Amino acid sequence: MTSTVVPAGVLTFEQAFEVVSAYEAKVSAPAVENVALLDSLGRVLAAPVLADRDFPPFPRSTRDGYAVRSADIKILPAKLKIIGQIKAGGDFNKAVASGETVEIMTGAAVPEGADAVVMVEHTVRTLAERSGESDFVQVERSVAAGENVVPAGAEARAGDLLLPAGMRITSAQIAMAAAVGAVTLSVFRQPKVAILATGDELVDVSERPGAHQIRNSNTYSLAAQVTANGGIAWTLPVAPDEERKLSTLIQAGIHGADLLLLSGGVSMGKFDLVEKVLGEMRAEFHFTGALIQPGKPVVFGEVSNGRRKVPFFGLPGNPVSVMVTFDLFVRPVLQSLSGCSATRLPFLQARLKKALKTKTGLTRFLPAVVQGGLYDPRVEVIPWQGSGDLLASAKANCYLVVPPDRETIAEGETVSVLVR
Ligand code: AMP
Ligand code: MG
Repeated sequence: MTSTVVPAGVLTFEQAFEVVSAYEAKVSAPAVENVALLDSLGRVLAAPVLADRDFPPFPRSTRDGYAVRSADIKILPAKLKIIGQIKAGGDFNKAVASGETVEIMTGAAVPEGADAVVMVEHTVRTLAERSGESDFVQVERSVAAGENVVPAGAEARAGDLLLPAGMRITSAQIAMAAAVGAVTLSVFRQPKVAILATGDELVDVSERPGAHQIRNSNTYSLAAQVTANGGIAWTLPVAPDEERKLSTLIQAGIHGADLLLLSGGVSMGKFDLVEKVLGEMRAEFHFTGALIQPGKPVVFGEVSNGRRKVPFFGLPGNPVSVMVTFDLFVRPVLQSLSGCSATRLPFLQARLKKALKTKTGLTRFLPAVVQGGLYDPRVEVIPWQGSGDLLASAKANCYLVVPPDRETIAEGETVSVLVR
């Protein structure tokens, strides 16, 4: 085995992730604002949502059928006298006595005296009974006490914590908030994220690139990732590979934003100036590389703008590297700046569709597709031309994780997958 020299500041994936997690823990909570319920989608709760009453507020029938006393229908078939009908939202003030039943609909309150509901499918009413000439129903299956009934307060008691502060709001949280009558919600202010692409070769998407120029895609992928993760993307003009102009744009970024994301200029090339310029601003570097592929040159640190320290990431310029390092390191930091409580990377397990061969030494996050199999998802790596291969990334729905000590992984082996 060949031993490689790891430069100072270059960490393993786990170490780098630890550093990011430690930073997350010291982020203070953002300011708070109130927004209309539907405008809270994707935001983070700043105040807990409590139950305004018991859930459910009454013993709720989960079926259409007959509310019964379970003891009445131990011997089958059992004939019960129908004393009324309750629909969802309806009032029914009489109690069910022995030998009696009430026709009941899903979502209605089970009346006093009854302790279970028999599904309508397990009952028979004769023609005379159905036409209302007779008030009896024949029950053909017994039920245990409590069957098809959710007791009052079984889901939550009045005053209980339903949604904690720090929870990201999706459709389920919106439904819960609606159920307790929250017309508005208290949410954290969204962090502003400055995005600064660097590179003399870059032109904007609206321009026609010269023979050796390329369009700036990183600003756009980063802005999309920031927006999708609850931040406000603020895109700065592209910085050329020139110290003074780069420095001016970095200054603009750290004065106007809560987080600065740079792309490009962090490798070993002669014109990779990002670390140098940040160093001259007396930035503190938490790491200057991670033993990963793609994304090895990734840099994380903090730099003062005179009033406060602003976190920054120098992400490698290659389009796949920029996206992967965002998912691995930026996303957790952005979430904590959004007020989200501790986040985890969304890893899943899947079986490898086709054997894989790589080199040891780096934790790899390879663009891949995970698919199919209700109980047995399979994952396949997308053939790629390395970390500049934007198309491979566009085809992927996940990254397959290859541990640094693995040279081969056999077909059918269970592997970790990072969901995008
Ligand atoms: P760098 O990290 O600056 O050495 O860039 C590495 C590679 O990524 C080079 O091939 C660049 O042309 C490419 N690249 C850098 N920045 C961008 C960008 N904003 N959009 C698309 N490709 C980029
Ligand atoms: Mg560059």
